Amino acid sequence: MEKGVAKILIVDDSPVQAGLLKGHLDKLGFNVVFTTKANEAIDIAEEAAPDLILLDVLMPDKDGYSICEILKSRDLTKDIPVIFITSMADRKDKIKGLNIGAFDYITKPIFVDEVAARVKNAINLKQAQDELKKKNSILEIMAIRDELTLLYNRRYILKRLDEEIERAKRYNHIFSCIMADIDYFKKINDTFGHPVGDIALKNMGELFRKKLRAVDIAARYGGEEFLIVLPETDIEGAKIAADKLLKLVECGGASEELPEGIRLTISLGLSEYPAHGSDRGGLIKAADDALYDAKKSGRNCCKAYKG
Ligand code: GH3
Ligand code: MG
Ligand code: MG
Repeated sequence: MEKGVAKILIVDDSPVQAGLLKGHLDKLGFNVVFTTKANEAIDIAEEAAPDLILLDVLMPDKDGYSICEILKSRDLTKDIPVIFITSMADRKDKIKGLNIGAFDYITKPIFVDEVAARVKNAINLKQAQDELKKKNSILEIMAIRDELTLLYNRRYILKRLDEEIERAKRYNHIFSCIMADIDYFKKINDTFGHPVGDIALKNMGELFRKKLRAVDIAARYGGEEFLIVLPETDIEGAKIAADKLLKLVECGGASEELPEGIRLTISLGLSEYPAHGSDRGGLIKAADDALYDAKKSGRNCCKAYKG
């Protein structure tokens, strides 16, 4: 959420108290929603995803402590800071609230400037946490993806290939690998420049991501080489997938945004577990040998490993 428009949820059984507090926080520029029904607090918190919850403790239908406990146990709400606002000024009550996971504790009668200062503290922390979470999820994605094509990277597909071998071994299944390579790519770079070559790679990535099955794993294996693992697929199935990719590329599916006159094609080599290799190295070598065969046979075609 953009800074300055943080959303606050007030839960207080007294409409007068809740209304007054809302009035103060509205003036400070916050987006404030409130409920006087403690039973609805959890649902509203999950729905509205506020940046902060101001929670009364003594309410007739449910007490604030148990609401806080539930909020802290659920994925959607566990990171939303909770500040108790209550007339229970006893130290033991405060400790109980903080032990449940509350961020802060304000006792009534409230002072507007104190509430404002504590609310701002909680919201600053929440927004810093959100920012960090966003950056972490980008880092997690980039650790397994290739930046240019957004396909998986080499390290990731090798790990997945090992896992696929283990699974296939355990359950007596088969699967296939495709090694794909752009034809005469050096010539495209030399004729049109490296940035144009990069666009071609990007397009290829998009095509593989969109046109393969969601369970297939496609990676940029090297400069202009792609490795695809097709779980639960025999060599005949892999041939169908490879022919589909071949046709899509040949028909210009990866040539969008490229200068006139570029005709992009690919060659593909196929291998099947366990017939053509029972480990990672063997399967990749078999697909590579088949790719070499496809290149030798005139390119823009796919070949299965012959042994
Ligand atoms: P073949 O049909 O036999 O595959 O010929 P080729 O020219 O595609 O094969 P070769 O292996 O000789 O050339 C691969 C070229 O890929 C070399 C390099 O210029 C290009 N390349 C590798 N990585 C990148 C990249 O990240 N961006 C761009 N633009 N080009 C790359
Ligand atoms: Mg090539
Ligand atoms: Mg190559």
